[in-house]
Amino acid sequence: MEATEHIWMDGALVPWDEAKIHVLSHGLHYGTGAFEGIRAYETDTGTAVFRLTDHIDRLRRSAKAFGIPFEYSVEELVEVCKELLRVNGLRSGYIRPITFFGTGSMGLNPAGAKVRMVIAAWEWGAYLGEEGLQNGIRVAVSSWRRIGQNSFMPDAKGTGGYINSVMAKTAAIKAGYDEALLLNDDGLIAEGSGENLFMVRRGVVHTPPTSAGALDGLTRRSVYQLLEEDGYTMSESAITRTDLYYADEVFFTGTAAEVTPVREVDDRPVGDGKPGPVTRRAQELFMGTVHGKLDLHPEWLEYI
Ligand code: PMP
Repeated sequence: MEATEHIWMDGALVPWDEAKIHVLSHGLHYGTGAFEGIRAYETDTGTAVFRLTDHIDRLRRSAKAFGIPFEYSVEELVEVCKELLRVNGLRSGYIRPITFFGTGSMGLNPAGAKVRMVIAAWEWGAYLGEEGLQNGIRVAVSSWRRIGQNSFMPDAKGTGGYINSVMAKTAAIKAGYDEALLLNDDGLIAEGSGENLFMVRRGVVHTPPTSAGALDGLTRRSVYQLLEEDGYTMSESAITRTDLYYADEVFFTGTAAEVTPVREVDDRPVGDGKPGPVTRRAQELFMGTVHGKLDLHPEWLEYI
């Protein structure tokens, strides 16, 4: 990770190395926080942040879901993100806003703990590797289940819940795979450790609904819409592990992962083991849109 000059903390820019919090911050102990991951891309007409307002709005919703007071307007934080890219001289990069309970309470009840809001930005390449974007990655169904609707809120980006994703991801890497695939308590596919899943079978493009334990990913929503407008038949539907073994194509979507083909599930090749035509088309449509090369959804690009 390459440091940039400034991080924004609670209303002020501070030097990267001085962006510190107290060890008795509530969020550190109990995972009482919410966060976002956002990407900015270089286009011919300047740097554009992809669906910035929608991301900040999701942060607001996640905070609401976890009972974390949200003391800024979405518009204010959108401006902070743009300013942060400008002051750090970033023409593209990854933006990480996080809000959490700080010091003031050490009991489980966070009442009395100060709410913190921090935004950092830095350069970040392909999350699952350039090779993965080109040729696809190998995934395995995790022995860990996605945290269920009655234990957590998988469709809210809460910091505490990510220990579930981290356990699945590290176990998958240790076993020699690139990424984990998590089932929910009913045995249906939820999502990857940090990505949404799509599957192509018999000409229909499927993705699990959020009720299956998937985050309402903005890349997922964008790719769904782009493919639908391109003429594909789309479906939000339950997906089983067996469906994936029979699938013609499988791919992941996410801010970090963008559109990453999956070439193997549980040591079984997906289709003929190479990224298929729908996956390639999804990559073209998504990358063309975020870089402003395709004029399909200019409203998704928020220039700095
Ligand atoms: N699922 C999880 C668990 C994630 O952490 C992410 C990344 N935010 C996604 C899906 C993809 O969401 P998005 O496309 O909004 O980045």
